[in-house]
Amino acid sequence: MLRVYGCFVDRHDMLLVALAVVVCSLATVGSVTLVDHARRSEGRIRALWLGVAAMAGGVGIWATHFIAMLAFEPGLPSGYAIGLTACSLVAAVLFTGAGFALALDGRGPRGVVLGGAVLGLGIGAMHYGGMAAYRVAGRIDWDVGLVAVSVALGVALAAAALAVAETGWRCRQGLAALLLSAAICAHHFIGMGAVGIHPDPGVAVPASVLDGRTLAVAVALAGVLVVLFALLGLAADIRARNRSALEGDRMRSLADAAVEGLLICEGGAVAIVNASFAELSGFAPDDLALVPLSRLFPESAALAHVLAEPDCAEETELVTAGGAHVPVEVIAHPIVFAGRPHTAIAVRDLRARKLAEERIRFLAHHDALTGLPNRAWFGAALDDALAAAQRRGGTLAVLCLDLDRFKEVNDIFGHGAGDEMLKAVARKISGVLDGGEIAARLGGDEFAMLLPDAGAAAAEAKVKALLDAVARRAARTVSGPAIGISVGVALFPADGADAHALLSAADTALYRAKAEGRGTARFYEPGMGDAVRDRRRIEHDLRSAVARGELGLVYQPQMATGTGMTVGFEALLRWRHPERGFVSPALFVPIAEDSGAILPIGEWVLRTACAEAASWAAPLRVAVNVSAVQLHAPGFAELVEAVLRDTGIDPTRLELEITETALIRDIGRALAALRRLKALGVKVAMDDFGTGYSSLSNLRAFPFDRIKIDGSFVQSVDTNPQAAAIVRAILELGRGLDLSILAEGVETAAELGFLGAELCHEVQGYLLGRPAPIAQFEAVTRGDEMEAVTAAA
Ligand code: C2E
Ligand code: CA
Ligand code: CA
Repeated sequence: MLRVYGCFVDRHDMLLVALAVVVCSLATVGSVTLVDHARRSEGRIRALWLGVAAMAGGVGIWATHFIAMLAFEPGLPSGYAIGLTACSLVAAVLFTGAGFALALDGRGPRGVVLGGAVLGLGIGAMHYGGMAAYRVAGRIDWDVGLVAVSVALGVALAAAALAVAETGWRCRQGLAALLLSAAICAHHFIGMGAVGIHPDPGVAVPASVLDGRTLAVAVALAGVLVVLFALLGLAADIRARNRSALEGDRMRSLADAAVEGLLICEGGAVAIVNASFAELSGFAPDDLALVPLSRLFPESAALAHVLAEPDCAEETELVTAGGAHVPVEVIAHPIVFAGRPHTAIAVRDLRARKLAEERIRFLAHHDALTGLPNRAWFGAALDDALAAAQRRGGTLAVLCLDLDRFKEVNDIFGHGAGDEMLKAVARKISGVLDGGEIAARLGGDEFAMLLPDAGAAAAEAKVKALLDAVARRAARTVSGPAIGISVGVALFPADGADAHALLSAADTALYRAKAEGRGTARFYEPGMGDAVRDRRRIEHDLRSAVARGELGLVYQPQMATGTGMTVGFEALLRWRHPERGFVSPALFVPIAEDSGAILPIGEWVLRTACAEAASWAAPLRVAVNVSAVQLHAPGFAELVEAVLRDTGIDPTRLELEITETALIRDIGRALAALRRLKALGVKVAMDDFGTGYSSLSNLRAFPFDRIKIDGSFVQSVDTNPQAAAIVRAILELGRGLDLSILAEGVETAAELGFLGAELCHEVQGYLLGRPAPIAQFEAVTRGDEMEAVTAAA
């Protein structure tokens, strides 16, 4: 090393050495920036930039060498062989170009190292080629060890320079240029140190060589060329930087204009974000730089999926600066940003959409009127509860609820009142729910309840609470329709293994509850299903009974106790079913009332009975049973009026039998209806007196003409003191109110005797005549009986 230092200090003109270093630096800075450009361009443009970089580098290395050679003062005549000097220039350019090309061709680190080695060898080829062109008046000997060191160091430093240029470091260009300069200088000056010159007058410098002055001109030209190349590189660099700055600005404005959040990231950390993302995440844009993506999107699987599959949207959560979790949709796209691969991630705020979805889900699963869950939701909840009960081996109860006479409320009070009633019931039902229990509106006036874990006792308690709650509401409502509900209960696992079976069992029980008197609850029992199915068939068949002529009337005589004469007949309905045969009115009339079929049937009865009576010679009374549904139906009085007109029967011969229970359901309407009927001149009898409320105020309030004592009091009236007392009291009452009294169900002569003695006005019963086709009473209807009595008198 002493030799190198000694050579450097003793035999060089330091001013020229400094110039060599300047030229070298210009060349390396120029070529490194030009290579950078080549890296960023493609195809022919890349080849062009590579060529220019090779020229800058090669000429620079060559010029550095020869300026340094001019600075070398061996103190002997010397010169340079032209051919070899030119060859060394060509070698420098070719090796430099090859080295750069290898480093850039994308083979990764190995290509870079290889390129660096080629570049280092190029420097060596250039240096020792140049030295081969050196002619001096003396003998030259070489220190092979130093030669090897110079080449090795040149190769290593050049490889390092190219490797640094490939990094993403901010100062990579400057550092690469510095390393490359070091490679060139180290190579040259160590190489020069390896040279030993021994003056020898016998060795002559040929005349054809380049002398120092000519070489200085050539080198000066090369230096100018290097400066030009460096300037070219610099200009290109400035332009590229300006363009990328402009592009960056444009991109930022564009990104900020986007409604969606955008973030550009590199290696799992944020590089930059747009204004929307900053706003969405609650971070200041600068605070987000270098923040790991996993801090923003903690759902690691979703994040990994987004990054692994570009352009594939994924829903996840964004954690804001405040720690809030915001539902977002993210989609990634690979981009080149600032010359390096990055990932652009678009982030869409899903809060508004989620809210809308939630609202839609709510609407899809709830009833708009009452706000209760709907049938679909209830079905799903029941399935879940069943699965849980099955797993645990537990129980649960399903309740089906139905408003009593809801159709009537709608018809009479209007749909507004109907809606109010549904809402009120929904509130009542919700009011008795405990944690985990669910109520739903299945449709119309049907509701359902699910009681998880409930057995028979718990279900019974809940039903009681429910009926009480609804009754409280009913009691409070002075005006407006009274509410009543019927309830059917089914239990899991006893009454059904799945949702369908349980719901249909509860429905069957409900149907039974309604059939048995409304306002009550029934638990499902095996066999109930058959009864309900049977009832449904009857309901169905009844609808066509009138049209198919399956209905008929029988008549039962009513007699005056004093004279024993027939004063009239009660018309009683008979249904001859094609398969079932005779069906009792006691069975099918309530069903017809429930289904509404009683209206056409009742009209048929009224018309048939009146027409029949109108044909009789004797002006006897005809009594027709009228159901509550008929009485409350709009236009009933008008119907009666029309029938009277059509049949021509004297209105006073028609008596309508109405039960007390039909009246008290809606007293105001019943009274109005009765008054209209009375105005037509028809008579009204209170049927089945004693079995219902038997309210004295009803008797006074309603314009009745007659009371019919129910057969249950009449039977054994002669032997049963209680029955006798009741009958006597009713008779007394009738006298007090000036009402005619008829005793029904008289079967024995003793009963008749008792009634006669107690001055009951009229009697009816098997003893006096069973209900039969009117033909059997022809003598009576012709008036023969009357004539006989008159004749006897
Ligand atoms: P109801 O109005 O109380 O009719 C009297 C019922 O007692 C009749 O039964 C009749 O056959 C029966 N009966 C008459 N005398 C005796 C007797 O001495 N002993 C006994 N045990 N029973 C006697 P029916 O015909 O089976 O009718 C039953 C119920 O069906 C009627 O009771 C009435 O509520 C209803 N019904 C019958 N026809 C009609 C109708 O055309 N319209 C309406 N809405 N209901 C009707
Ligand atoms: Ca009757
Ligand atoms: Ca009766």
